[in-house]
Amino acid sequence: MVKTIDTKVIIVGAGPAGAGTSIYLTLAGIPHVIIEKATFPRDKVCGDACSGKTAFVLRKANPAWLQEVFQQPDKFMPSHGIVFVAPNGKPLHIAYNPNRKPEDLAPGFTTPRMVFDNFLFEKLPSPYATIYQDAHIKDIKHHDKGVTVTFTKGNETYEVNAPLIVGADGDKGIVRKTFLNIGESPKAYAVGLRVYYTGVTGLHKENFIELHFLPEMLPGYFWIFPMPNGVVNVGVGILSERIRDKKINLREQMLHAIKTNPNISQRFANATLVDKIQGWGLPMGMEQLPVSGDNFLLVGDAASLIDPFSGEGIGNALYSGMLAAYAIEKSLTEQQHSRAFLKQAYDDVLYKRIGDELKISATLQRLCRYPWLFNFVVNKANKSKSLSDTISCMFTDMDLRDKLRKPSFYLKILFNR
Ligand SMILES: Cc1cc2nc3c(=O)[nH]c(=O)nc-3n(C[C@H](O)[C@H](O)[C@H](O)COP(=O)(O)OP(=O)(O)OC[C@H]3O[C@@H](n4cnc5c(N)ncnc54)[C@H](O)[C@@H]3O)c2cc1C
Repeated sequence: MVKTIDTKVIIVGAGPAGAGTSIYLTLAGIPHVIIEKATFPRDKVCGDACSGKTAFVLRKANPAWLQEVFQQPDKFMPSHGIVFVAPNGKPLHIAYNPNRKPEDLAPGFTTPRMVFDNFLFEKLPSPYATIYQDAHIKDIKHHDKGVTVTFTKGNETYEVNAPLIVGADGDKGIVRKTFLNIGESPKAYAVGLRVYYTGVTGLHKENFIELHFLPEMLPGYFWIFPMPNGVVNVGVGILSERIRDKKINLREQMLHAIKTNPNISQRFANATLVDKIQGWGLPMGMEQLPVSGDNFLLVGDAASLIDPFSGEGIGNALYSGMLAAYAIEKSLTEQQHSRAFLKQAYDDVLYKRIGDELKISATLQRLCRYPWLFNFVVNKANKSKSLSDTISCMFTDMDLRDKLRKPSFYLKILFNR
């Protein structure tokens, strides 16, 4: 027998985007059903680096959660900065907050997604959230009253009805496919590999994450991210267009860099691989695509919101979940679930908040194709404290980051102004 459930919102997927949506729907007192195909704790291939935006959404939902994060050093490692290694091998160390006082919390942290996503998942139970894990969607129907999703869990079949559905089902999500049949553009799609090691040497004493812009990977990069318990997350991310055009074997390219790159190989001399190499796609926000329509909203990777320069998507997944919940609250109050209403309430607000940032990052990604430009900026910044301070501020100040897009920025560096 089919069990029927009527609710206000159906969320498909309980990763950061789905969790963010659910947390903020609960804060607004809106009943919802979450359908998740995996069983938590579950892994997700990722660099495992969480930025200030992740911290912001957590703090806004419940300030105690961020404290909880920093009280568990065996699970979450505070991160204070970033090392950019230019194509010529020269590093540039950038502290997120150069004027940090010892008592200040770190702006970001690293944590295995197995841990972080489960941390978020454990925050979901509430009188408003009904959660089905290990649940398998069989059908999604769009009709004049909203949406009906049929799924199975064990031997049971469920039919859930709601006026609104949220696609938080990540890269290759089925909600996006059902409602918005837009394929991925190869220019906006990258592929990444991740592997865990122990015994990697030469890490920064304040756990700076490292991005190595190796010439053969541009505009992508090789990364080394320190994690709790002496583990290091290592990986590569490269545009799928480049992989196809240059017939790159990503796995071989990553292992080749570890074995032979003069800046990297010695640091792995006594390192041990503690996991298998795994890959996943990165749908990036290179252009502003629709993220809602009649009776549906898309969040996180399902909405292609990964930063095209840094590859960061957890922060935008949580942030878009929060904004989607705000839009849903308006949509339910006014009983308006149309494409026009949701576009104003969600797409326009989302792109007003993060659209510029994505555009700037898309341009930076394009500039990264020019190794000489990268080498030039890093060389100059290593000689000029004011330039390295400017780059440091670019992490929090979008107007400053926008300067990187303009030729005048490079001319000023050239003439030391
Ligand atoms: C190699 C790599 C490195 C990365 N490094 C970083 C990094 O260091 N920092 C960073 O911020 N971002 C990074 N990202 C991006 C980041 O992983 C994603 O942006 C983030 O996971 C998006 O969260 P999400 O909730 O949208 O999707 P996901 O985390 O993919 O969650 C989607 C959820 O939906 C569920 N689901 C899928 N299909 C269905 C279905 N049909 N029915 C029910 N449930 C379903 C899945 O089981 C999953 O739990 C990286 C990505 C890759 C591939």
